[in-house]
Amino acid sequence: MELLDTLQRPLRDLRISVTDRCNFRCTYCMPREVFGPGYQFLNRTEILSYEEITRLARIFVSLGVEKLRITGGEPLVRKDLHQLLAQLRAIPGMRDLTLTTNGSLLRAQAQKLKDAGLQRITVSLDSLDDAVFQSLNDSGVPVATVLDGIKAAQEVGLAPIKVNAVVKRGVNDHTVVDLARHFRGTGIILRFIEFMDVGATNGWKLDSVVTAKEIVETISREIPLEPAEANYRGEVAKRWRYTDGSGEIGIIASISQPFCGDCTRARLSPEGELYTCLFSNRGHDFRALLRGGASDEEIAAFAASVWQVRADRYSELRTSETAALPKVEMSHIGG
Ligand code: SF4
Repeated sequence: MELLDTLQRPLRDLRISVTDRCNFRCTYCMPREVFGPGYQFLNRTEILSYEEITRLARIFVSLGVEKLRITGGEPLVRKDLHQLLAQLRAIPGMRDLTLTTNGSLLRAQAQKLKDAGLQRITVSLDSLDDAVFQSLNDSGVPVATVLDGIKAAQEVGLAPIKVNAVVKRGVNDHTVVDLARHFRGTGIILRFIEFMDVGATNGWKLDSVVTAKEIVETISREIPLEPAEANYRGEVAKRWRYTDGSGEIGIIASISQPFCGDCTRARLSPEGELYTCLFSNRGHDFRALLRGGASDEEIAAFAASVWQVRADRYSELRTSETAALPKVEMSHIGG
């Protein structure tokens, strides 16, 4: 019997945050003034081991999950990540293993990740303009390092490769056409993300949002675009193809075109809390079950009970009041 939530949405996509740490301090995700030197990150015993993550993932795959996305923080800062990927790749019934990274550590790890079974990858790159990029990542890492990471991913055969760019008005919106020009015709799928009111630390304001409509109009003025069909139900990005056939882009428009109706995603935090929405303020503790001797059946029953009562549709109900509500930080559960 298919596991459905209260809006008849199946559980298909589990995003696994393997660390709350990152070597970047992106202003819209992990602002340095909050995540500074004194910030208390989770320690080794608090976070799930690779064996615990794999056991949970196997149980979720038995409940209908087909896609596993590894996130963070920055997942490549966690030691020997390739060992986890190899364990996850071996789970029967798991169809799609991918990972989201800031790309700065990719050159050194791409081959190991590929050999371990990673199929494809998403790299965040908000601008090709070094000053703009570094003002956003606040870590002094140049664009060239991330572009080299993307090149390494291509060289080892990770595909498709997607590049995500969060667009913030007055910060990097004047550089979206550069990104489009750069990745057009390369087979790499560029996706623009509307700036979201995730967490409670990124100073989100509605007038900082550049909408999907504006992004399409801006690019189309130079490189005409037309809408393209979704690849599958629950696909997060709206697809647009270049009318000259030279490729496509995607837009993740959580603010101006919310897509909760088809949301089949759950997110697992590094310490084993399951969140049924990116904008939740409450997780469900699986670590206590894992470490308390619960059987796979008991854990599966708990997971099903959490999903069956799920009614999340935050983006469809967003107001200026909800934007101010306490929410889990995106750096804690991945985008
Ligand atoms: S706001 Fe929540 S329910 Fe809506 S699409 Fe995002 S994660 Fe899914």
